[in-house]
Amino acid sequence: GGSDNFKVAVRVRPKIEREKNEGAIDCVSVELVHSAVIITRNEPSKRRPSAFHMEELSENSDSSSNSQNFFFDIVFDPSSSQVMIYDTCAKHIVMSVLEGYNGSIIAYGQTGTGKSYTIEGGNDEMTRGIVPRASDEVFNYIKTTASIKDQFLVRVLYLEIYNEKLTDLLNPLQDNLRIREDGVGGVYVEGLSEHVVRSTRELKKLIQDGASLRKTASTRMNVESSRSHTVFTIIVEHAICTAEGGRIVTIGKLRLVDLAGSEKLDSDAKLQQQTETKNINVSLHTFGKVVMSLTSSSSPHIPYRDSKLTRILQDSLGGNCKTSLITTITPVSSCYTESLNSLLFAKRAKNVKNKAIINKDVSQ
Ligand code: ADP
Ligand code: MG
Repeated sequence: GGSDNFKVAVRVRPKIEREKNEGAIDCVSVELVHSAVIITRNEPSKRRPSAFHMEELSENSDSSSNSQNFFFDIVFDPSSSQVMIYDTCAKHIVMSVLEGYNGSIIAYGQTGTGKSYTIEGGNDEMTRGIVPRASDEVFNYIKTTASIKDQFLVRVLYLEIYNEKLTDLLNPLQDNLRIREDGVGGVYVEGLSEHVVRSTRELKKLIQDGASLRKTASTRMNVESSRSHTVFTIIVEHAICTAEGGRIVTIGKLRLVDLAGSEKLDSDAKLQQQTETKNINVSLHTFGKVVMSLTSSSSPHIPYRDSKLTRILQDSLGGNCKTSLITTITPVSSCYTESLNSLLFAKRAKNVKNKAIINKDVSQ
């Protein structure tokens, strides 16, 4: 990849029950030695060739030209466990956040390919995702390293961007929040609630309470989940008292981002009003445009300000942050085009470069 501070990974999930039952065939394979993903176009007529079709098949097929190889910083095949993903893509970022760096882990990909599984995951030890593992890391670190001179404060925030509208997922009554400039080049979401937490259990309870409140407050659950972006933020503030009576404060911000599905929405405009579809595209399209501008050889204007998502993630993309972008894909050939698009996007993103510094405040 282009820089140590911006890493691009691809995770190929296993086939789910439905795909297996449908007898889906694979079009994606992973070569771990070279960190490569190989995607192969299987023409519909060439699926499951019977003996009668073999001749026809060998006439038109040139399997080598149907395959494309993509190389990434890290690739995960379908057997990869949640702990492998955490250890490779997240752990070093969480450790940096504890030192006062900004960190982001962003999941990008088609709906149904495992973005939420990667970021949030399930409830048991095997399936839980990056959020609870990062939380454990933070609290274990505090427990085992903090001395009497250290003070830690951990706060969490949980934001949803849907239809360019910002909702506080930990206080769903706040559903039309605004972005403000902080006066030193950054932004914040005005009115977004911040919750002090002392353990992973407290953090999980907060998320669950937020989710059940949302269920009763909202009727747009399912459609929303594939079209909304969620940003879970863990802020770790660390104050150290110096021997001279001064104080050093570091503030690390960890953002765990579950993006809206990257699939083209054009064909299902009937699902929602046209305007809504168009609006939802604003944040994801701008996200793509920002990555394109950051990696283009001329140095154009970077359109961070064109969407809510990119304003909020400005540091994470080309800024002061250590970022992992995890692109999720399914191996099945019916999703060939979407998977290829995701791989092309991830390939482009490899050239993004971030510069990270510790956020430190020294008094006296
Ligand atoms: P997305 O958030 O991208 O729409 P999900 O995370 O909801 O996708 O995943 C879709 C389905 O696939 C879920 O049932 C999820 O449990 C399953 N799944 C995704 N990734 C994996 C994986 N690596 N291993 C096992 N099941 C997975
Ligand atoms: Mg999801």
